[in-house]
Amino acid sequence: MRHVLPGSNASRGMALGRARLVQPSRYLVDTRPLAEEEVDTELEKLHRALDTARQELRELRGKLHGALAREVNEFIDAHSLLLDDQELLRGLDDLVRVGHYRPGAALKKQRDRLAAVFEAMDDPYLRSRKEDVDQVINRVISALQRQTSREERKLAARVGEILIADTIAPADMAHLAGNGLLGVVASSGSPYSHSAILARSLDLPMLVGVRDALATIHDDDLILLDAERAEAVVHPTAQDLARYRAWQREAQLEGRRLASLANAPTRTRDGTDIRLLANAETPTDIAMARARGADGVGLYRTEFLFLRHKGLPSEDEQFIAYRDLVLGMGGLPVTIRTLDLGADKADAAGLALRGEENPALGVRGVRLSLRYPAVFTTQIRAILRAACYGPVRVLVPMITQPDELIAVRTLFKLARQDLKRENIDLPEKLQLGAMIEVPAAAINVRSLLEHADFLAIGTNDLAQYVLASDRGNDALDNIYNPLQPALLRLISYVITSGRRAGKPVSLCGEIGGDTKFTAMLLALGLCEFSMHSSQLLHVRDRIAALNHKGLRRLAPAILRCRTHEEAEDLLSRITC
Ligand code: PEP
Ligand code: MG
Repeated sequence: MRHVLPGSNASRGMALGRARLVQPSRYLVDTRPLAEEEVDTELEKLHRALDTARQELRELRGKLHGALAREVNEFIDAHSLLLDDQELLRGLDDLVRVGHYRPGAALKKQRDRLAAVFEAMDDPYLRSRKEDVDQVINRVISALQRQTSREERKLAARVGEILIADTIAPADMAHLAGNGLLGVVASSGSPYSHSAILARSLDLPMLVGVRDALATIHDDDLILLDAERAEAVVHPTAQDLARYRAWQREAQLEGRRLASLANAPTRTRDGTDIRLLANAETPTDIAMARARGADGVGLYRTEFLFLRHKGLPSEDEQFIAYRDLVLGMGGLPVTIRTLDLGADKADAAGLALRGEENPALGVRGVRLSLRYPAVFTTQIRAILRAACYGPVRVLVPMITQPDELIAVRTLFKLARQDLKRENIDLPEKLQLGAMIEVPAAAINVRSLLEHADFLAIGTNDLAQYVLASDRGNDALDNIYNPLQPALLRLISYVITSGRRAGKPVSLCGEIGGDTKFTAMLLALGLCEFSMHSSQLLHVRDRIAALNHKGLRRLAPAILRCRTHEEAEDLLSRITC
């Protein structure tokens, strides 16, 4: 039956597909005892599920031909025999009727009994038949759990898969996306996690915090993942499917309309020009950034190179990646961020320290780079060499205090001297910037500005550290909110301080690409937004509808808000 599971939108879009569960155990069954009056209906359900399993086996046999059929038919015969085994069936009926077991729990109990019998056999062949028991029982349990009609199953067979999991690691997501994954429904996680960032960059719809997903969705259920409404519809109706088709048509039209903005300037309604930069890592992101008229790359996360690599990428490997980025942007400025490993980003080479009690507050970002000067210098040399091919600026993550920036500058100076001695071409002096994502850096930004050529506000981490709320923990949704007054005041302070010092300030956290926050950021004086390439046209479109002067006048009122609800309310009333 149709049911709707609410969650949080982590990556926009809609997808229709079959559920593929990643469940810690296949035998999650309801163990509460049955009431007497439920026995008959539950027995009926059990026998329907047994019939479905038999029918599935017959269908499977019909699809097989030739040598494969001969080989597999043997297993199908064994499974069919088991499904008709009188002892098994009587045992199941007794468990439900007399023991008041629910059908799923009865199947599990019978499975355990049979498995014990097979396991006790001396003959290894017979012993291995335990697997058949498992497979048969599994088939019945999933038929039991699946309240799916045959029509729906036929439709489901023609569509791709939607992953239903507790969480998904970024690497797994990248792999599955390459293999036709249509979307992700996660029962935990947050829109600010790195997996969510990756889903957005892959244009893969994703919901997080869908609490009951694993308990109520079953393998092969037809799912309509609707990230626009932040919900997953299980067993969608014809009406839902019509909505999905309407969304597809609209998305196509909207896509065409937005595409016409690719070469337009980014300008508010009253004529203020805004710079839109891209957060780009892959060649596809870079191509998309160009195609959508980005003014440059505002954030290139170099750690992705390390995360994909089995060991440490060599200087040449890094140089080639950075050079291709620079060449790919065809003369537009690119911002290469030095390694930000640590916390939830652990590399295979083992640079990121393991076993830290509090990794988010541990040796991550520039702290880690400075701990391994040889590794860091390899990266610096690669950046310097790549910078001969076009304009590059260097951004340093997790800066807490000025001496870190001074140390990085010194390492750049030393690397330049070495490269010069080796007669390798060197670029002009590179601009060195600080990520503002640690509260101390934001509060003490004026001292940092004495050493930084530019700033980039990383609101994903800044919010996490200001609010003491893990950016990946959905239980903290009500606290981890980009409109928290403390965060807004810090963002405003950093922007104003940068402007006073005459140094550029951009913002490259996820809110930079979220049109919900565009007006608020313009109001606080932000003139440089960096976001995933897929968001560029949406944000340009939003900016074109806004009046800059009117918004700037709202800044004092925004900064006076006492709660995020007040700020939300204020923003919802913006008409300019
Ligand atoms: C941020 O913290 O806002 C940011 C852009 O960096 P990352 O998401 O890579 O930690
Ligand atoms: Mg960060």
